[in-house]
Amino acid sequence: MGKITIAIDGYSSTGKSTIAKQLAKSLGYIYVDTGAMYRAVTLFAMRNGVDTNAEKLIQLLPEIDLKFVFNEALGYSEMYLNGEHVETEIRTLAVSNLVSKISEIEQIRIKLVDIQRDMGKSKGIVMDGRDIGTVVFPDAELKIFMNASADARAARRYKELLDKGEKVTYQEVLKNVQERDYIDSHREFSPLMKAADAIEFDNTDMGLKEQFERMHSFALRVIEKTN
Ligand code: C5P
Repeated sequence: MGKITIAIDGYSSTGKSTIAKQLAKSLGYIYVDTGAMYRAVTLFAMRNGVDTNAEKLIQLLPEIDLKFVFNEALGYSEMYLNGEHVETEIRTLAVSNLVSKISEIEQIRIKLVDIQRDMGKSKGIVMDGRDIGTVVFPDAELKIFMNASADARAARRYKELLDKGEKVTYQEVLKNVQERDYIDSHREFSPLMKAADAIEFDNTDMGLKEQFERMHSFALRVIEKTN
């Protein structure tokens, strides 16, 4: 059976990665969370005191090594920044508050898109982000654009952060989700937008099981058609 490329884009906290992971697992595909890459670059910038200095950060780009390492126990890959496991650090609200500004920088996007295209060159990949169906893989056989109400998204992210022990308020999380959406959709280079041929998927009132079943059937239909 020939493999396809699946691009999942959409607004912040729409549950893209949860569904993308399940889909990849069920199809035996690689899963790539591109948000983790932008988050790791942001963490690097914060640690090196260059998060408000794009020029300095661009100079330091060659020193940033990003790797996904498969975690057998979890069944998906995790992000390593210069050899260090950074999955916890990159998911904090502090990183979330800065990541969209860092992601506006064209040179950073060029570097990360190169890595992403390389990871997808043999197909058999589910990649989620903001520009996957529009820029990274404009020829992807299946493109999904996910959305949900801002309230539903903030409530999910708020619960996740509380579960991890972060002390945040619902209002802070809602503000972060709305600000990221605004910056991500208005930036100059590869802004977040729905590709013309993407399937729009609103999951405001949809449970995980139903989301997975629908996505899985989209994927099987496309795989069948392409073979
Ligand atoms: O997907 P996640 O919410 O972890 O992404 C964090 C941020 O990284 C986004 O808000 C966006 O600013 C940036 N991003 C991006 N392009 C991608 C993936 C993420 O600009 N392909």
